[in-house]
This record gives sequence, structure tokens and C-alpha cells, in this order.
Amino acid sequence: MNRRTLLAAAPAAYFASLRALAQTPSRALIDDLVFANHILSNEGIVDGYGHVSARHDSNPNRFLLARSIAPALVRAEDIFEYDLDGKPVNGAPVSYQERFIHSEIYRVRQDVQSVVHDHSPAVLPFGISNIPMRSVFHMAHFVGEGVPVFEIRTVARESNMLVNDAARGKALAATLGNKPAVLLRGHGAVTVGPSVLIAVARAVYLDLNARLQQQAMSLGGPLNYLSPEEGKLGAQDYERSWNLWKVKVATSGK
Ligand code: MN
Repeated sequence: MNRRTLLAAAPAAYFASLRALAQTPSRALIDDLVFANHILSNEGIVDGYGHVSARHDSNPNRFLLARSIAPALVRAEDIFEYDLDGKPVNGAPVSYQERFIHSEIYRVRQDVQSVVHDHSPAVLPFGISNIPMRSVFHMAHFVGEGVPVFEIRTVARESNMLVNDAARGKALAATLGNKPAVLLRGHGAVTVGPSVLIAVARAVYLDLNARLQQQAMSLGGPLNYLSPEEGKLGAQDYERSWNLWKVKVATSGK
């Protein structure tokens, strides 16, 4: 049935199809994403580099990501729409080279609504070590699910370490598997979540957990980490942290 016939036969269906065609992301999601950029910067998780995205809330085959600028500088008008091949849908002035981290994770993880990529300093030692990250405290309970380490040499023998094409993105997504976080050897970390709030909070608490684990290890002697069961029982919604971080952003002059 063409659109004119549909309008005559079923006006309600016709107008619903128009809304689906427009597929504009909600203002609330864009606002969350702008806050997420500023929070990650404010909390020291990203510097000039790193990025955070959200799956489009009316088209699951697209995601929202800023153009290639420092997260602290991102405004609503800097956010663009991408498809699952990492192509900007309406054109972005300059795209992040590592947008394939986001596109390939969204492609295979239907549960993921947000992805953070950072080079947070505290996690970097664990990316080059054979000592796995373990859950040190209840706020980082999700670490208990295991944090795999991505080895880029499995897809690129000698590389600049960047996940800047689809093949590297697919390999990273495979290493992440069904986990909430993955480290990238000699590079940084990726956290994912069912919301922007959770993905951002995981990035912040992954960084804190890494610092605390290293401190605990420096004490010497055996360590008594959270068990995966304790981790599950300690699950946090991070709402109070998120609201605090937003206020800190709002009062920091951004
Ligand atoms: Mn990077």
C-alpha cells in the first residue's frame, strides 16, 4: 500500500508511519548524553580523548555520538546520529576515529543502551598485566562478573592500538562478550550498560576499583575479594551518584 492509499484507508496508521519515519531522538536522551560527557570529564575519567554514546531511543539500529571534540566541550548541537556501520547518518563534521567501538557493540549486544570509552589512568596497569581485575567493594560489584582484556594483535599484528575500523570493533565486541566492561591492552577501557547513567557510573567505579585493588595488593598477603554472588546482591542503581555528578557539573561553570 502506498502512502496516499494508506492515508485514505487508515489515517491513524498513516500518521504513525510519519512519526516512525522522522525518528528523532528524545531531548531527554540528548541531555543525558551531554551530561555524561561533562561528568566523565569532571570525574577525571576522560581528558581530551574518550567518548560516550547512547543507542537511539526510537531506532535501535542507530546511536548518538558527539563529533570529534573533547568530551568537556560537547553541547547538544555537537551530537550526531550514526548507523551500525559507524557511518554518520546526517553527516558529522569530523567523526571520532574509534566510533567502531560503539557501532560493533550495539550490533551484537541488544541489551546495551550506552557505551563509554576512556583511557582512565588507573585501569591501564591492569591492561598490560596478567593480574585480572577483581571486585574490591560493593559499588564496583559488576567487576565481579569478570573484566576481560582485549588484545588488538588478534586482528592487527602491528597497529596504532586504535579501534578505528569495523574488524577491530568486532574483535573488541567479541572479547567483551556479555560482560559490563573490557580493558584494552596499552590503551584504556570500555564500559557498557542498560542506560547512560549505568555505563557512566561503571566507568567511574571501574577506575576507582582499579586504584583500590592496586592499593590492596600493595599491602601484601592474600586478598579477600567480593564473590560473584556478593557482587550480584550488592547491585547499585547509582542514581544518587549520578544526581551528585550532575550538580557538580552544573556548578563547575560548564
Ligand atoms: Mn581510545
